[in-house]
Amino acid sequence: MEKNIDRRTLLATGALALAGAATQSQPAAAQTGAKAMFPVPAVTIPIVGETDVFQVRRIYCIGRNYAAHAIERGSDPDREPPFFFQKPTDAIQNVRIGEVADHPYPSLTKNYHHEVELVAALKSGGTNIPAEQALDHVYGYALGLDMTRRDLQNGMAAEKKPWEIGKSFDHAAVLGPIHPAAKTGHFTKGAISLSVNGAIRQNSDLDKMIWSVAEQIAKLSEAFELKAGDIIYSGTPENVGPVVKGDVLLCKLQGLPDMSIRIV
Ligand code: MN
Repeated sequence: MEKNIDRRTLLATGALALAGAATQSQPAAAQTGAKAMFPVPAVTIPIVGETDVFQVRRIYCIGRNYAAHAIERGSDPDREPPFFFQKPTDAIQNVRIGEVADHPYPSLTKNYHHEVELVAALKSGGTNIPAEQALDHVYGYALGLDMTRRDLQNGMAAEKKPWEIGKSFDHAAVLGPIHPAAKTGHFTKGAISLSVNGAIRQNSDLDKMIWSVAEQIAKLSEAFELKAGDIIYSGTPENVGPVVKGDVLLCKLQGLPDMSIRIV
C-alpha cells in the first residue's frame, strides 16, 4: 500500500513537472530550437489531385442537422438552434479511395452506430463570420462517418453528463480524402446515402440540412475562432443504426467517390 502511494506521488510530481515545462518552455523553445521530448505526429489527410496534404487542426461536428434525424433523436427541428461538439483530431481514420478499410469495433459499447456526413475543410477562418462570406473559408469537402457509441452517448445524456465517451473515442472520425472546392464546387444539395452489406440504411439529400455549411460556419465562428485546418462534420440524415463486426459500410455522396469500411 505504501509503495502504491509513493508511486502515485511520484507520478503526480512528474505530471506537474511536465505540465510546468509545457507551459513555460513555449517561448524558450522557439528561441533555442528545443525539440518535443515525446513528439506527436501531425494529423494530415490526402488532398485529391495534390501532392501536398491537409493538416487537421480541430474537428467540429453539428448535432441533429436533418429534421427527420432530429425527430428520431427526440428533439424539435423547428425550434432548436444548432449545437456542436468536437472530436479529438487524432480520432481520424483516413480511408483511401477504392479501399475497404478495416475499422475496429470499439470497446465498451453494445450499440455502435453509423452516421454518414458531408465534411467541410477550412483553409482560413475567423470570428463572427457572416454566412454570406462563410464559403470563402472552405478549401474542400470529404465524406465522413461520425461513428457513435450510442448506448454510451444516450446513457450520459440521460444523466446530463458530457457525451464525450459516446462520440470522441479512437477511430471515431472516419474520413475520406479532401476534394478541393475549386474542382467540385460547394455542396448545398445532392444525394447522400449509406448502405450496410448492400442494404440501404440512410438515404437523403444535402438540401435537407437544417443549417447549411455556410450557416454552420457562421454559427460556429460566434463561439470559436475558426482557423485553417478545422473540419466540420455537417450532420447525418435519419435512420442511423447499429453495426456489428463483419459489416461492410458503403458511403455515397453525389459528386464524390464512395468511401467504405469493414467493421472488425
Ligand atoms: Mn453526427
